Amino acid sequence: MSVLEIRDLHVSIDTDQGTKEILRGVDLTIRSGETHAIMGPNGSGKSTLAYTIAGHPRYTVDSGSITLDGEDVLEMSVDERARAGLFLAMQYPVEIPGVTVTNFLRTAKTAVDGEAPAIRSWIKDVNASMAKLRMDKSFAERNVNEGFSGGEKKRHEILQLELLKPHFAVLDETDSGLDVDALKIVSEGVNRAKENTDLGVLLITHYTRILRYIKPDHVHVFVAGKVAEEGGPELADRLEDEGYDRYLSAATDA
Ligand code: ADP
Ligand code: MG
Ligand code: MG
Repeated sequence: MSVLEIRDLHVSIDTDQGTKEILRGVDLTIRSGETHAIMGPNGSGKSTLAYTIAGHPRYTVDSGSITLDGEDVLEMSVDERARAGLFLAMQYPVEIPGVTVTNFLRTAKTAVDGEAPAIRSWIKDVNASMAKLRMDKSFAERNVNEGFSGGEKKRHEILQLELLKPHFAVLDETDSGLDVDALKIVSEGVNRAKENTDLGVLLITHYTRILRYIKPDHVHVFVAGKVAEEGGPELADRLEDEGYDRYLSAATDA
């Protein structure tokens, strides 16, 4: 049983126009086996939260804390965070020219585990996971994200999730741009990881659609850099009907 705790987190970025505060006091606690959906309008800071958890250097933590079982995550390098069991599926996965999926996965697995995986069982695991995600074998020899379709990029993120076996996964709009079939395949991958490894999930999404396949225990509405409301799955249903307008006008009035 692990716990990821975010306390009063304030984060800013440097832009051409100066420093801009994006996260304004985020509080969130996620335990093993729990799925938390973060839902919010574009530009509310959801990806900023995801990147800050993963340790992207662009984002400056001005105050607050992130801890994993009491350990200070903000003191850890990106690599250390991955080794501690944190995983980020990016909203816009980046191309890695010259690096094949096979090599990338093996390097990542070695880095996360601190030792190279035994070759036979590793190849078996990779092939099995790719088959479950309905990925063609030839995919393994392509360069990471180069010329991948939107759906292929997202499946590749979930392939990493299945193979690296983190304790907590932040999934940043893993549903965006997927047709229903791909959405189901990707969701099944996340659900397998939840069952097999008691994964804690922070599921960032703009739409309620993915929540039909990956059931959240908690829903957090994220507006203007912080959690504006929290509830159970019923809150997602309400957002489906009402959208974010109510929160946005409240944020503008404040
Ligand atoms: P979301 O994921 O909810 O759409 P983001 O975290 O991507 O929100 O962005 C939050 C705000 O921060 C937006 O106003 C966005 O324009 C700004 N922002 C985020 N990253 C950058 C960046 N690298 N450069 C400039 N502005 C950024
Ligand atoms: Mg966005
Ligand atoms: Mg985003």
